[in-house]
Amino acid sequence: MRTELVKINNPSEQADDIARAASIIKNGGLVVIPTETVYGLGGDGTNRDSARKIYEAKGRPSDNPLIIHISTPEQAEKFAYTNQTYYKLAEAFMPGPLTVVLPKRDSVPSEVTGGFDTVAIRCPSHPTARAIISAAGVPIAAPSANISGKPSPTSAEHVASDLDGKVDMIVDGGECEIGLESTIVMVNGDGGLTLLRPGGITYDALLCVCDNVSISPTIEGVLKENERPLSPGMKYKHYAPSAPLVLLCGDEEKILEFLRHEQSEKKCLILCYDEEIGELLRDGLIPIGRHDDVQTQAKKLFSALREADRHSPDIIYAHLPQKDGLGLALYNRMIRAAAHTVKEIK
Ligand code: AMP
Ligand code: MG
Repeated sequence: MRTELVKINNPSEQADDIARAASIIKNGGLVVIPTETVYGLGGDGTNRDSARKIYEAKGRPSDNPLIIHISTPEQAEKFAYTNQTYYKLAEAFMPGPLTVVLPKRDSVPSEVTGGFDTVAIRCPSHPTARAIISAAGVPIAAPSANISGKPSPTSAEHVASDLDGKVDMIVDGGECEIGLESTIVMVNGDGGLTLLRPGGITYDALLCVCDNVSISPTIEGVLKENERPLSPGMKYKHYAPSAPLVLLCGDEEKILEFLRHEQSEKKCLILCYDEEIGELLRDGLIPIGRHDDVQTQAKKLFSALREADRHSPDIIYAHLPQKDGLGLALYNRMIRAAAHTVKEIK
């Protein structure tokens, strides 16, 4: 398949490009769209064949459900049974990086929801994503536009290296603003929420809207064998670079000493803070933002993991993030990329 690459900087001035992307989706094809979180591999969310094509292009197990993207929060009515909590969340966070899991209606094929009787719904804020969804007139089912298991793509270059020849079109909308996938919450029968995946909407922000928010243990913990998590994506190996990734915690000075020693002994790659550049050998460093700038670290993480892979190091080191605010999302992605390998430096 030939993949068309289209750059859309300003959707309101590129109506023809938006219309072409929308028509591919309506006709059962696949279009990669930029969003504020990561790039999404989009197809018609009401078409079971489109869902099958998405799983195939991604190499994704078909029991791992897709998120459907809508252009206004009210459109959820057509695909899910909503409630008051959904509308409270919508008012506070939509459009934006929040996905809400609700009981599904029959209009969504079970292929899209991986056989679940719930559906994950998100209303993205990215103007190009919104324009394509509106023009398509159908919800867009879209998982992250990477080959299953690789880091999610935050630029059109990442997408092309994974999916060129496997999709009809890639829409290049530049670098993703947030860089980590959406926060996912499940609305419980009692109106409370369970946080299934941390992201741009933080736990504290959710607490401002709903006073009953529990955190799914899979966010921090390791699953037991045969355990099926509430959010199926959590059970798969994810984001993993080819070389082992080790997360370091402990005293900052001691960590620097340890890293200097490691640099002298082996081919290591270090995802470092900007302040550490002068403290370590420059070769093999990938700066991901200042120590206190979690937003920049989140934006750069997936790109850094992809870059780390290109150098084929023996080992990759990074700092274990704090778990507060956006840090919880960063922690969740990094701990999974590291297969839970944490080394305390004393
Ligand atoms: P991705 O689009 O790659 O970020 O993956 C979407 C993730 O959303 C999946 O891996 C699931 O973990 C989660 N998800 C989608 N639909 C549901 C659902 N019905 N219930 C729980 N989690 C869901
Ligand atoms: Mg994904």
